[in-house]
Amino acid sequence: MRSIVLLGSTGSIGTQTLDVIASRRDQFRVTGLSASGGNIELLARQIIEFEPETVALAKASAANDLQRALYAVAGERGWAQGEYRLPKFIFGPNASTQLAASGADVVLNAITGAAGLEPTLAALAVGSTLALANKESLVIGGRLVTEAAKPGQIVPVDSEHSAFAQALRSGRADEVRRLILTASGGPFRGKTRDELTDVTPQQAMAHPTWDMGRVITINSATLVNKGLELIEAALLYDIDFDDITVTVHPQSIVHSMVEFHDGSTIAQASPPDMRMPIGIALTWPERLKDAARPCDWTTAATWTFEPLDNDTFPAVELARRAGRAAGTAPAVYNAANEACVDAFWDGRIGFLDITRIVGECVEEHLATGHTADADPTLDAVLAADAWGRSRAAEIAGAGA
Ligand code: NDP
Repeated sequence: MRSIVLLGSTGSIGTQTLDVIASRRDQFRVTGLSASGGNIELLARQIIEFEPETVALAKASAANDLQRALYAVAGERGWAQGEYRLPKFIFGPNASTQLAASGADVVLNAITGAAGLEPTLAALAVGSTLALANKESLVIGGRLVTEAAKPGQIVPVDSEHSAFAQALRSGRADEVRRLILTASGGPFRGKTRDELTDVTPQQAMAHPTWDMGRVITINSATLVNKGLELIEAALLYDIDFDDITVTVHPQSIVHSMVEFHDGSTIAQASPPDMRMPIGIALTWPERLKDAARPCDWTTAATWTFEPLDNDTFPAVELARRAGRAAGTAPAVYNAANEACVDAFWDGRIGFLDITRIVGECVEEHLATGHTADADPTLDAVLAADAWGRSRAAEIAGAGA
């Protein structure tokens, strides 16, 4: 029986993780749940359903609402106060970090954005296996995160990196020639820059193959998500940026591939369903039986691959530049993007402004020489994150 702490339990990955666990109570025990406070009713339902020992909530002001929601959900089931066990609560901005340090077998970090960094470090410090959906923490922390991890302690939840991990089992590290990172291309695949000038957040949210949270969905439309994944792959598998190729595969069946030095390429294929990589991350290095549906080979299917249009979607090459510069450059790339996603969502900037502003912030940061320290401290990373956020908001506010 593995004990699981789930950070970001009310989000897209969080709810799918609980879906995987719900039918396997003999294999997993949820010892902790965390959320920010944006969906109190759902969190209350999860608490009643999974009976965690501890619940962490970033928004302390939502404590009373959570208490009321818990009584309401318990009442629906006909339970009187005292007939069910309440968990221990932790409130405030560091709540998820404290929960991550509780020593569970597996901490699945499904928080969105840079807020996941300190929980990631806390889980690694106490020796828990870190099932990592929150790629941002790895990307911005860089070697701060990889050097805090023992070999194999970080297990990816991202479907692409799960595919790499599975395909890499086919050969030795010194036999790997290249990683091929697949991208769906998002909702705007095939469009020109002119056609993207006036697209709306609602159009950007219409992802063709995956149903995900707001930030990652917008990031999939700009291809910033693929840029973050490129840096994630380089860090997780210690591969040079020159040896990672991005290819567009609109069907999202082949989740990524590894090319070995004999010319053989091993691909991992399954229908787009996050329960597969979530399942294997919870049980790694074993597989979780019936985690998701396999491909159906009795009906005709076509899988296509095409090169990425870097002129229309410059985010991947920008990430390659920030990733090669290392230091705090990836933190600026991510922070500026998070600020731009908010600005785009609120109608303050256009779709194409997102990667343009991210690019300006990265170039400004590189020009200051702030990335020269290849092994930045946590304070340096957080300072770069704060700078990237405020500089991007400033450019966006200046009528970008
Ligand atoms: P969502 O926006 O759907 O969910 C985010 C979750 O994080 C919510 O539970 C939210 O709580 C919680 N949260 C946000 N801020 C904090 C905080 N400061 N402290 C504690 N909890 C917080 O995101 P997704 O599930 O889509 O994505 C989560 C992560 O997984 C991202 O890093 C994403 O890139 C990655 N990922 C997602 C995939 C997907 O298919 N969705 C695929 C691969 C990776 P609340 O609801 O209370 O606001």
